[in-house]
Amino acid sequence: MSISVPDYILNIDPYVPGKPLEALEREYGIADSIKLASNENPLGPSPKALQAVQKAISQLHRYPDGGGYYLTQKLAAHLGVRPGNIVIGNGSDDILGMLVRAFLRQGDEAIMPKPSFLMYDLEVRCSGARSVPVALKAMSIDLEAILDRITPRCRMIFLCSPNNPTGSVLSKQDFEHFLAQVPPDIMVVVDEAYVEFVRDPLALNSTDYFHENGRLVTLRTFSKAYGLAGLRVGYGIMPEYIARILSRVRQPFNVNSLGQIAAAAALEDSEFLEKTLSTIHHGLDYLFLALKSLPVRHFPTQANFFLIDVKKSADDLFESLLKRGVIVRSMSSYGYPDHIRVNVGLPEENRRFIQTLKQAL
Ligand SMILES: *Cc1c(COP(=O)(O)O)cnc(C)c1O
Repeated sequence: MSISVPDYILNIDPYVPGKPLEALEREYGIADSIKLASNENPLGPSPKALQAVQKAISQLHRYPDGGGYYLTQKLAAHLGVRPGNIVIGNGSDDILGMLVRAFLRQGDEAIMPKPSFLMYDLEVRCSGARSVPVALKAMSIDLEAILDRITPRCRMIFLCSPNNPTGSVLSKQDFEHFLAQVPPDIMVVVDEAYVEFVRDPLALNSTDYFHENGRLVTLRTFSKAYGLAGLRVGYGIMPEYIARILSRVRQPFNVNSLGQIAAAAALEDSEFLEKTLSTIHHGLDYLFLALKSLPVRHFPTQANFFLIDVKKSADDLFESLLKRGVIVRSMSSYGYPDHIRVNVGLPEENRRFIQTLKQAL
């Protein structure tokens, strides 16, 4: 090949997403399988969002609102910030990409917990900057160890609460102490994709620490609790000066029209959100109780998913669950070769998972 590729791009392993249900069923010749692998909402999308999408579908020949006016206004009112503090994206992944593109350059460092969401590392490396992974401590993000790894080259720190894949949260108190110690020229990005599911009253809600003159950015999404993963809508809450920089690197129509309309409707569908939370929380209670009688160890969680130490090869167990029509995620690529990650499903899906796990073990 005569076209040269930057070394930092060649060094990236492509992200391997969980396979879609149809693809797995085709490959394995199975039917009626259940997917508990991508932390999606088992209830489907919010009915109000579906209605709004149906109404809007005849306008698909129009470009979306490039400024996302209506959704941004709604989010700002919902969160008690100004519209200038909100940036919407094609999933929160898009905001992550914009932050990295706008604020990191080759030679910079970005610190991130490991294991955590794989997109932080991927985005950082695309910019030619260097990822500095910091190991978890007892399945939780180790803020002290992160502080120890700050160098003059560090420009950005990623945190994830609840953390994917462990489900652990940061406490308000630990975060407050941490934020006070991070030099003011380092951006702190807190990914709260699962914050709606949190029950622990001491857990962090990073928007409490939002400051117009600060450097704190919170990432949220409509992909999980709001059930709109397929439409790709996420948002960031940040000081206006950061939002204005992002508008320089943002694609003008980054959030599609149906996504904007669905997200605005889902935000107002508090009935659906409550039903989602109750489904997840009851499901967790059921699963944790049922797992007690199996020869495995499960980990506490504040999200809609959790880890199970299955005390044997997670890749093998993944295969044998899959052949029985139950799709989970093996954590071997995250450095936990004996763990699987499972998300809470509908009550009948949870029961089937437990039964199938018993057989597969
Ligand atoms: C699912 C998930 C997201 C959401 O990504 P979208 O691009 O908004 O779908 C973000 N962060 C974490 C940790 C996630 O697990």
